[in-house]
Amino acid sequence: MEIVKQQNKMNCRLLMFPAPFQGHVTPMMHLSNLLYYKGFSITVIQTTYNPLNPANFPNLTFHSLDDGLFEAYSRCPPPDSFKVLDDMNSSCREPFRDCISQILKDAAGATDQDPVTCLIADPMFMFAGSVADSFNLPRIALRTGAMSTYVVYDSLSALREKGCFPLDETKLNDPVLEFPPLKVKDLPAETLHHTLSIVLNETRTSQGMICNTFQELENDSIARVQQAHPFPIFPIGPIHKYFPASQVSIWTEDKTSIAWLNTKAPKSVLYVSFGSVAAISEAEFLEVAWGLADNEQPFLWVVRAGLIQGSDNSYTLPEGYKDIVSKRGHIVSWAPQAEVLSHPAVGGFWTHSGWNSTMESISEGIPMLCLPLFGDQSMNARYVSEEWKIGLQLEKGVKREDITKAIRKLMVEEDGKEMRNRVTALKEKADLCLKEGHSSYKYLDELISYILAM
Ligand code: UDP
Repeated sequence: MEIVKQQNKMNCRLLMFPAPFQGHVTPMMHLSNLLYYKGFSITVIQTTYNPLNPANFPNLTFHSLDDGLFEAYSRCPPPDSFKVLDDMNSSCREPFRDCISQILKDAAGATDQDPVTCLIADPMFMFAGSVADSFNLPRIALRTGAMSTYVVYDSLSALREKGCFPLDETKLNDPVLEFPPLKVKDLPAETLHHTLSIVLNETRTSQGMICNTFQELENDSIARVQQAHPFPIFPIGPIHKYFPASQVSIWTEDKTSIAWLNTKAPKSVLYVSFGSVAAISEAEFLEVAWGLADNEQPFLWVVRAGLIQGSDNSYTLPEGYKDIVSKRGHIVSWAPQAEVLSHPAVGGFWTHSGWNSTMESISEGIPMLCLPLFGDQSMNARYVSEEWKIGLQLEKGVKREDITKAIRKLMVEEDGKEMRNRVTALKEKADLCLKEGHSSYKYLDELISYILAM
């Protein structure tokens, strides 16, 4: 699905404000490209932490916040993404206000500039809503995760009232009756509730919600969220499929991944990546390494900086490991993931079940082995394995024997074939929903009309 640049200009400028984590940047930048091609002028506002290279987006205008984050983190690297979020929420409000004020002033003073119509913000920023309101600037939230998990977040206070938290250690495998097929252990940990309350508040005070999903995948949850919100919901995903080749990575992609895949048989390779933030212990890292080695299956494995907890961004493989896997293993520090998943040699994806990774895998018809590590990942993995039945989950820790068995099941056994058939059927639905007359296409048209009427 490749969109052709629309000739009629909309005479509107949209401000886009992505949270600076890859899983949030990916859909926001795909959306920015998409709306540019639909005729809007686009300004991206970014923090100094994890910035994108504007040279990769010649059609978009970039503004950097004067937030001091980069300076702070270059002295002392951020310990984890929740700390980064807290720091952003305490240091970015005023720089963001100044930035918006400047952009609005510039637009008002120039005859050759489109007026600013709307802010599309990541709801992780707890200040974006109130700042936008103070300028009477309409705002739409971009939900970068699943609708099925948003529904759970939206019900957290009800679940708390029912006494679900703190989670009862003796009931972790019980079903959550309100949200099949979730189990109690899949529910978001209490340490996340503060962040989630920010997300909910920023979303609820918006005038609309764009989400990276499609109706045929999450119909019930979309309907449930729509019913509970007074503004329209626009499920226009899979957003990355409008421009499959666009470069939205914060880090440099190792293109040897593709050259290496070119040497492999169709559907033979297991692609392994645990996303941009999640970390595993050194012992788990070694189990993953041996689980991959004790198997005949070729693998492409992303070992990114920070994957191993407490490491200084380097890692050591056991002695002789590289020789053992030399013919069938390739390790990179960052892959062009969307391109990798669409490569004919890839037959399975061992993932941490981040929502972008899940959508990217579904969009290419690739069944998944799920190892959820934190946040919404356990819920995504449960949907993948038990609702859509397009993958299986490692639930009993990270042990090499279990890994080897699971890889075999996914890649060569009958169960894996059935998962592949089901995910192929979903891929076809994902392809179709972007076409004229179908769900995401229609929602995109509705979104554009909605923005133009703001
Ligand atoms: N990604 C990538 N190269 C890699 C690993 C990940 O481009 O080597 C991209 C991936 O395609 C996805 C994003 O990083 O778009 C990760 O988002 P996700 O929601 O899956 O997980 P998160 O990183 O937020 O936990």
